[in-house]
Amino acid sequence: MHDTLRINGDRLRQRLSELGNIGALPGGGVCRLALTDEDRQGRDTVMNWMRELGLDVTVDVMGNVFGIRPGSAEGPPVMTGSHIDTVRTGGLYDGSLGVLSGLEAIETLNDAGITTRRPLCVAFFNNEEGARFAPDMMGSLVYVGGMSLEEAMATEGIDGKTVGECMQAIGAQGDAPVGNPDVHAFVEIHVEQGPVLEESGITIGAVEKVQGISWTEFTLTGTSNHAGTTPMRLRHDAGYVAMATASFVRDLATRLGGDQVATVGAFEIGPNLVNVVPNHARFTVDLRNTDSDRLQQAEWQLHEFITQLAEREGVTLERRQLARFEPVPFDPAMVDRVEAAARTQGLSVMRMPSGAGHDAQMLARVCPTSMIFVPSVDGISHNIEEYTAPDDLEAGANVLLQVLLDLAA
Ligand SMILES: [Zn+2]
Repeated sequence: MHDTLRINGDRLRQRLSELGNIGALPGGGVCRLALTDEDRQGRDTVMNWMRELGLDVTVDVMGNVFGIRPGSAEGPPVMTGSHIDTVRTGGLYDGSLGVLSGLEAIETLNDAGITTRRPLCVAFFNNEEGARFAPDMMGSLVYVGGMSLEEAMATEGIDGKTVGECMQAIGAQGDAPVGNPDVHAFVEIHVEQGPVLEESGITIGAVEKVQGISWTEFTLTGTSNHAGTTPMRLRHDAGYVAMATASFVRDLATRLGGDQVATVGAFEIGPNLVNVVPNHARFTVDLRNTDSDRLQQAEWQLHEFITQLAEREGVTLERRQLARFEPVPFDPAMVDRVEAAARTQGLSVMRMPSGAGHDAQMLARVCPTSMIFVPSVDGISHNIEEYTAPDDLEAGANVLLQVLLDLAA
């Protein structure tokens, strides 16, 4: 019925650039770590935009924010959204595109005088990135009842402060309850953050599933000793075990093949001196796969390797799981809707998995869900160089508008 309705690309880009100014980094990009003062400014800005568009804004006890546009009928809303927190060297579009495309869709409907039957809701979820407080997607996880509010609040960040303390400091907590949401359907638009769409020359990704994620932190404790006088056979070298494992992790991904990826992203060694055998090492391993069994296999092989090597070297090993999410399939009918909306608008479209975690995978636990991807130039993300062409941002937001209209009609 409203097939020809289109969003205003300039207005969308204007909001993206205004939000990108908050926490802007020299040389481009943005740093708005969750629950910092920059995050507070971003939250206030987006909530003000929501109110200007006539949305009814509610904030839940986990700091997730919802702007609701009533429909002609009562009932659970059709929801869209994403996050506005970033990693330390974030781009302008990761997360923000999902939230601001939602607002742009609302403004387009306002301008056209269209009231949908079901209510519409634009949400942004607290601490999606997990760059300050693990796990990532914490806000949406608590929202759907996958983690208790108490556990989330007690989570300590990289700077030693807890989520609860930081939420209090920036006034992020609202009073709406969490844990049992009533949502008709959820669709999230996001930059791909990988190279597949660009490489294929395709504008829209209809996301079918999200990779499973396993994050573990390993801490090794050995004995510091003189690098010249300690024979190799008598060493308890924590650094050696950590570095050999890091190298094993890379080989593991290559050996398992398929969708398996594996990364050692954080690494520290102590005392970190040229002539001292390290007595301390701490590092993280990030394993991902779209297949549940293979992900488990990767975890098991990593476990075996480091356990045996630490034992041989006489080094004690502690492990801490930072995050663990199973692969998530999206609702086939929702994926079809995304694909159909793209085709209706004459856009090229392909079905694909998501390599990154997203709030949508949490919402998939409680309602039919899918995602819309747009190309990331050179596949770069979590980097100030992150870029998506203006036409692609606009095309994705138009697909979102169409899917929201279809779902809320
Ligand atoms: Zn994101």
